[in-house]
Amino acid sequence: MRTSRASWHKNNSSAPVRKSTSVMRPSVLDPLFAPVSSLPGIGPKMSKLVSSLVTSQPDREATIADLLFHLPHNVIDRRHKPGIAYSENGDIVTLDVTIDRHMPGPRHGKAPYRISAFDDTGSITFVFFHPHRDWLEKMFPEGERRIVSGKVDWFNERPQMVHPDYVLKPEEAAAMPPVEPIYPLTAGLASKTLQKAIKTATDRVPTLPEWLDDAYLRQTQWPDFAEAVRTVHLPQEQSDISPEGPYIQRLAYDELLASQLALALVRANMRQLGGIARKPEGRLQKAVIAALPFQLTDSQKTAISEINQDLAEPVRMLRLLQGDVGSGKTVVALAALAQVIESGAQGAIMAPTEILARQHYASMLPLCEKAGIRIALLTGKDSQKQRRITQEKLDAGEIDLAVGTHALFQGSVTFRDLGLVVVDEQHRFGVHQRLALSAKGKGVDVLVMTATPIPRTLVLTCFGDMDVSRLTDKPAGRKPVKTVSASLDRLDEIIARVGAAVREGQKVYWVCPLVEESEKIDLAAVEDRHRVLEQVLQQRVSLVHGRMSADEKDAAMTAFKSGETRVLVATTVIEVGVDVPDATIMVIEHAERFGLSQLHQLRGRVGRGDKPSSCVLLFKGPLGETAQARLNIMRETNDGFLIAEEDLRLRGGGEILGTRQSGTPGFRIAQVEHHADLMETARDDARLILETDAELQSERGQALRCLLYLFGRDEAIRLLRAG
Ligand code: ADP
Ligand code: MG
Repeated sequence: MRTSRASWHKNNSSAPVRKSTSVMRPSVLDPLFAPVSSLPGIGPKMSKLVSSLVTSQPDREATIADLLFHLPHNVIDRRHKPGIAYSENGDIVTLDVTIDRHMPGPRHGKAPYRISAFDDTGSITFVFFHPHRDWLEKMFPEGERRIVSGKVDWFNERPQMVHPDYVLKPEEAAAMPPVEPIYPLTAGLASKTLQKAIKTATDRVPTLPEWLDDAYLRQTQWPDFAEAVRTVHLPQEQSDISPEGPYIQRLAYDELLASQLALALVRANMRQLGGIARKPEGRLQKAVIAALPFQLTDSQKTAISEINQDLAEPVRMLRLLQGDVGSGKTVVALAALAQVIESGAQGAIMAPTEILARQHYASMLPLCEKAGIRIALLTGKDSQKQRRITQEKLDAGEIDLAVGTHALFQGSVTFRDLGLVVVDEQHRFGVHQRLALSAKGKGVDVLVMTATPIPRTLVLTCFGDMDVSRLTDKPAGRKPVKTVSASLDRLDEIIARVGAAVREGQKVYWVCPLVEESEKIDLAAVEDRHRVLEQVLQQRVSLVHGRMSADEKDAAMTAFKSGETRVLVATTVIEVGVDVPDATIMVIEHAERFGLSQLHQLRGRVGRGDKPSSCVLLFKGPLGETAQARLNIMRETNDGFLIAEEDLRLRGGGEILGTRQSGTPGFRIAQVEHHADLMETARDDARLILETDAELQSERGQALRCLLYLFGRDEAIRLLRAG
C-alpha cells in the first residue's frame, strides 16, 4: 500500500510536512491516483502534454483524477439533423446524404478537392485541402449513402463542409457519439485523443463513500460523485455540463468543501498549536505613531486596535488587512510590528518586488530610528558576505525588523525569534506558502495586506477563513483623482499639456502596457515613448521597465522621487504600491488593454498628496463594449470596492486576480460567478464538521478524508492527531 507521501503532494504544496507519516490514502482512491500514462493511447509524450494541460504544474504527471477534473466547456450535439438546406451557417450538423460526384482539381495545384452530395432538401460540397485521394475515393463512393457530420459554412450562398468530423456508412452510424464533450486543449494535443483518454478514465471511477451530509444531499437532489463525474464527461444534453446544473454543482461543491475543510483544519491546528499572548505596554507602537507627520484615519485606528487584540490572545493571528491603494496599510503594519517587537520578538515584512521592499524600508527607516527599532533590508543583490552578516544578526536577535521580498524569505533565512510576518501580498501568495512561512518561528502571527480591494465573495476563496480588517476611509485631505479619457489621436495635445504641467513643477507618470514582460514590441513602444517625451519636453525623463536591472530601476525611481526628473515612463512594474506623494498626473496609454482593477491600481499612484490630481486614459479606438464600460466606470468613481465588484461582473473571478486560467484561482471546477452561494455553504459545512468531528473519525469523517485526498488537500489530514 502507498503512504500519503505520494508524489501528489510533493509538488502540490510547500506546507510544512509534519512528522506523522502513518496517514494513508484510502485504497479505494487508488484507481483515481494512477498516472495518466496508465491509460491506453497515452505514451510518455502524450502524458507530458496532458499533464501540462490538466495540472498547470509542469513537472508533475497528471493522475486519472486530474484528468477527470478537466471538464468540457461545451458539447456538440450530433443529433442535430436539420437537412442540408436548413443547416445554418456555422452550425454543426449531421447529414444523411447521397454522394454525387468527385471534383478532384488539378493533381499538383493548390485547389482543394471537392465532393458534391445531396439529400431531399438540397446539395452540399465537402471540401478537402491536401487531400489523400485514395482515402477520399474509398470513403465517398459515388452514388452511395453516407452519414456525414461537421460544421456547415455558407459560402457564396451555397453550403459547404470543410473536412467533416465523421463520415460513416449508414449501418455504422451508431459509432458516432450522439453528444460529444468539447474540452479546452493545448497545442499538439488532438481533441479526439483527449476525449478518448477521458472517456476511458470515466470507466475507472470507483464507488466512493458519500462525504456529503444526508440531509443536504436530499435537499439538493444532487447525484453521487461517480455519477456526476461520468455524466459531465458523457453528457447527453447541453444542460448536463451547465455550471448551474446538478452535476457540475455537485463537483464544485465537493471541491469547495475540500478547500474549506482543509483551511478550517489548518486554522484549527494553528490555533491549537497556540500563539503567544503579546501584551506589551505599547511604548514602541506609540512612538511610531507619534513620529508620523499626520493623524491616523479612523479605520487605521480600528485596524490597529483589532490587531492589538489579536496579538494579546494566546492564539495565532491570521488577519487580512484589506485597503484600497493609498489607504495607508504600511503604517498599520508597522504599528503591528512595533507591538510584537516590544514584546521581545522579531518581525518581518515581505514585499512582492524589490522596488517595493526598498520603498517599505525607506519609509519605515526614519520611524524605526525614532522608536529605536533596528530595521534591516535584505535584497537579492546583497553580497555573500553581507548576507552572512545579516543572517548572524538575525540569529543573534540584533535585528528587530527584516524587510525583503517574498523570494528571500521563502529561502533559508532564519530568525532567533520570529513573532510576526507581514505579507504585502498582491495575490501572489497561496495559503500553503503562508503556512511554510509561519514555520520559521513558534506561534508566528500573520498579517496579510492586500491592495486590490477584493470583493467579499472572493476573500473566502483566496484567503480562506481569515479575520478581516478593512481600511475604508482615505487619509484626510485626499481629493478624488479627476479622470478623463481621450483617444490616442489626441496624443500631441496630451503631451503638450503634460509639458505645461511639468513646467509648473508637477510630476507625471506615463504608463505603457506590457502584456508579457518578454514582448519585444511593447518594450520598443515604451522606449519609443521615452525618447519622444524627452525630445518634446526637452528634459530628462526617467524610464522603468521589467527588462532593466534592479540597480537601473532603483536609479530611475530615485531620480523621479527626488524631483531630479519630473516624468517617469514605465510599464506596469509601478503598479504595485509605489509611493511618490507629490506625483499628480497619471497618463495611461492603451488604457483599453488594461483591466479595471489594474487601471484603478495605477490611478492610485497619484492623488496621494494634498494637491488635486488627474488621470488621463489614452485609448486606441474603436472601443469594444467592455472596454468602453471600463473607461466609463473609471471616469465615474474612485471607489475601489465598487470598481472591484464591477470588475468581477465584467470579467469573472479568474481575471480579477490577474491569473490567466479561466476558472476561479486555486479551483478547477468551482467558479465564483456561478458558485458563490455554494462557497458560503461549504464554509458553514466545514465549520460544523470541525465542531462535531474535529478529528474526522466518524463514518462521514472517514469519507471526508477521501474527499481531501481527491482534491489534493490532504496535507491538512496530517495535521490531525490520529491517522
Ligand atoms: P497603501 O495602502 O497603498 O499601501 P501606503 O501605506 O503606501 O498606502 O500609504 C500611502 C501614502 O499615504 C503614504 O505616503 C503614507 O505615508 C500616507 N499616509 C498613510 N496614512 C496616512 C494618514 N492617516 N494621513 C495622511 N497620510 C497618510
Ligand atoms: Mg502598500
